[in-house]
Amino acid sequence: MFKCLLCSGDVRRELSFATVFESAPPKYLCVKCHESFVKWHKKSASDANYGYAVDAVFILDDAGQNYLEKYVNLQDDELAVCFTAEIRSKCYAGLTYLTISDEASQLLKTAGIPFSNEVEEIENLREWGLFCLHENERKERTVKGNINHVLLLFMEM
Ligand SMILES: [Zn+2]
Repeated sequence: MFKCLLCSGDVRRELSFATVFESAPPKYLCVKCHESFVKWHKKSASDANYGYAVDAVFILDDAGQNYLEKYVNLQDDELAVCFTAEIRSKCYAGLTYLTISDEASQLLKTAGIPFSNEVEEIENLREWGLFCLHENERKERTVKGNINHVLLLFMEM
């Protein structure tokens, strides 16, 4: 039995072909906590102000705020494992992502997505992405160059 990283409730893993043969990742959040995150379903659109595709994994609501509070402010590093599958499914294959905070870097590292936190290094790439925890993180840093994709973990509504 696992404990949910957010509420410490029990995490049940249903027995299936995938779990028996360990091809499924262990679950880190209980069903209730996991379902409290609202997925961002909008189709990525080119941002007229910036000229690149902007995407998000989740909507920033109470669940998102709670996660950020624990992960960033209370430095609960374990929470980096929670959304690896969701982040992987939204990142563009083969793209290296610039990260602005250590917490964003840790999420991509855990998800196995190529990343760099060196602006000079990444601006020399033919094309690259930007991964931020939320919109404010993106606004804190203006980046130029061949940016191809922006992915926010939480999008403000
Ligand atoms: Zn929970």
